Amino acid sequence: MTDALTLFDDVVPAETPVASRLLQVRTVYAEPAAADSPRGRQVLARFPGAELVEVPSHWQIPDLHGNEGNVDRWVRIKTETLVLGVKKSLSARPNDRSANWIAPSTANGCAMACAYCYVPRRKGYANPITVFTNIDQITGYLRRHVARQGVKAAADESDPVSWVYDIGENSDCSVDALVSDNVADLVATFRELPTAKASFATKYVNRDLLDLDPEGRTRVRFSLMPDADARVLDVRTSRVAERIAAVDDFVGAGYEVHLNLSPVVLRDGWEADWTALLQQLDDELDDVSKAQAAAEVIMLTHNEQLHEVNLGWHPQAEELLWRPELQQRKVSQNGQLNVRYRNDVKRAGVTRLQELIGRHAPWLRVRYAF
Ligand code: SF4
Repeated sequence: MTDALTLFDDVVPAETPVASRLLQVRTVYAEPAAADSPRGRQVLARFPGAELVEVPSHWQIPDLHGNEGNVDRWVRIKTETLVLGVKKSLSARPNDRSANWIAPSTANGCAMACAYCYVPRRKGYANPITVFTNIDQITGYLRRHVARQGVKAAADESDPVSWVYDIGENSDCSVDALVSDNVADLVATFRELPTAKASFATKYVNRDLLDLDPEGRTRVRFSLMPDADARVLDVRTSRVAERIAAVDDFVGAGYEVHLNLSPVVLRDGWEADWTALLQQLDDELDDVSKAQAAAEVIMLTHNEQLHEVNLGWHPQAEELLWRPELQQRKVSQNGQLNVRYRNDVKRAGVTRLQELIGRHAPWLRVRYAF
């Protein structure tokens, strides 16, 4: 860590300071090149009261590490801290099911705190938002990558005709859009790419996104679960009812809106609560939203290390997430000890939820379920 500078309100006068319960930023750690860039200056102007602390690399911020189990400190760091960096290596990773490609990140970290979150904790367990400021390089890379793919030859689980790029693997784009125009630039980029589509999952309703005019080239996947689960597990997110209420508005504004029914948590009463959620969708979504809707169904995957951490701050969540009598262990590609429902339990759960969808929301096409 090097100099500490105080910011002045006149860095970029056109920006309006962000007013959000999620972000009351007091400190911005920044690589000098990121702070000096137009996008970096935009972020700093949105948080004019913040102190700028220059760091040699966005990876090397010791202050942000070592807060496992200290949720008060996580939430404070998530609320009060941002990081600015330059994304060095740009590549789109092949994916399957949800998207064909994972786009290079324009951010990582999150201001929310879901108890099951599997987004890698790159900056301690608080994992505040890092914004990558070289957005023009990232969108340029994406344009070239899309051009190289040509026209999609055959329909797949991601989309019948378009190449789908997940732009929010390591963050929640709806919150990222509070911090900078990176998401607006991505939406504008895909608006001009008729063979491709951006896609991101979200648990936050940011109505500023309604003004971005995506022209059908961005898919928003609102994550949904019964409110009784979300109230325990989806910490700091928009309430489920607010997400459902936003669907018609986002469709009307030109987004494709899909529903992520995930994670599905098996517990006493889960079928009744998922039935009520599906009935609520059937009652509240208009016909236009229903006609374009599709869903992903994803059963809960949990993690032993995260279980241990959660026991320290949120044991109530672990009553839902940690069910050894129903779960089996699996070592993931990155060496983490994951736990997921036993094959027979999972199969039965997926089948039952698909039956419930067929009965209560028959218009909801399931793109995949696992
Ligand atoms: S909103 Fe997504 S990225 Fe953020 S904490 Fe929840 S699961 Fe993780």
